[in-house]
Amino acid sequence: MIELLHLTKDYGSFRAVDDVTLHVPRGALYGFLGPNGAGKTTTLRMIAGILRPTAGRVLIGGDDVLANPLAAKARLGFIPDRPFVYEKLTGAEFLRFVAGLYGQDGQLVEHRLDELLDIFELSSWKNELVESYSHGMRQKLIISSALIHRPEVIVVDEPMVGLDPRAARLLKDLFRGFVARGGTVLMSTHTLEIAEALCDRLAIIQGGKIVASGTMAELKAQTGADIGLEDLFLRLTGGPAAKELAAVLEDAGGGGSR
Ligand code: ATP
Repeated sequence: MIELLHLTKDYGSFRAVDDVTLHVPRGALYGFLGPNGAGKTTTLRMIAGILRPTAGRVLIGGDDVLANPLAAKARLGFIPDRPFVYEKLTGAEFLRFVAGLYGQDGQLVEHRLDELLDIFELSSWKNELVESYSHGMRQKLIISSALIHRPEVIVVDEPMVGLDPRAARLLKDLFRGFVARGGTVLMSTHTLEIAEALCDRLAIIQGGKIVASGTMAELKAQTGADIGLEDLFLRLTGGPAAKELAAVLEDAGGGGSR
C-alpha cells in the first residue's frame, strides 16, 4: 500500500535519509523505529508530500506522491509530530475546514465529524475555540482531522505523545480496528512496548538507512537471538555510543573494570 523506492533526502551536504526502500502492505500496522535523528520524521514527511525527496519515489496505493499528489493524498491521513491547528476556529470548524481541503462537505462530513468527536470524547467541546483545548485534546482533534476524509492509509509520527492512558488505549484500538477493516498504518514511535504489542511489522532506521525490517520473528532471526524488542533495538542501533555511555557510567560508579 505504501512503497518507498530508493528514497533519499539531503539537507545541504547532510544525507538525512539514505536510499530507503520499504514496502508497507495493505492491512499492516507497521512500526517505524529508530534513535533520535535517525530520519523517521523526514521519511514520514516525504510520504505525506510535505518534503520533496532529493531522490527516489513514494507510492501510496500505486499513486506517486510527486507525480499524482491529489490522488495519493486523498488516500492518506497524516498525523504529524508537530501539528498546526487554527486557534480561532472551533473543533467542528477545524474539521469542516480540513474536510473541505479534500473536497468534502455536507451531511456526510457532519456525520463523520460527530462520530469522531464522540469517539475522542470531544463532543461537548465541538463548538469551543481550539485555543481553549488542552494539549491532549488538540492531539485528539488532529487525529480526528486526519481521519475526517476516510483515508485508506494513516501515517503517524509519535501518536501517543501527550495522550492520557485512556486516549492512548482508544487510539491503539482505533488503529487495530482500522487495519482489521483493510486500512494500513505506518507509525513512528519511541515507545517500544507499544510497537511490540501493537505492530505486525517493524522497520528500524539508523543514520538514514533501514538496518532491519520484518515481523518480530524475522527481526529475531536477523539478529540470531531470541530477545525482546528493546534488546533487539539496542543491539541493532546501540553501536559505539551505547558502549561508551556504559563505560562512562561504570567509571562514574567506580566500576573500573576496564
Ligand atoms: P527524533 O526521534 O529525534 O524525532 P527523527 O528520526 O525523526 O528523530 P529527523 O527529524 O528525520 O529524525 O532528522 C534526521 C536528521 O536530519 C537529523 O540529523 C536532523 O538534525 C536532520 N534534519 C532534520 N530536519 C532538518 C532541516 N530542516 N535542516 C537540516 N537538517 C535537518
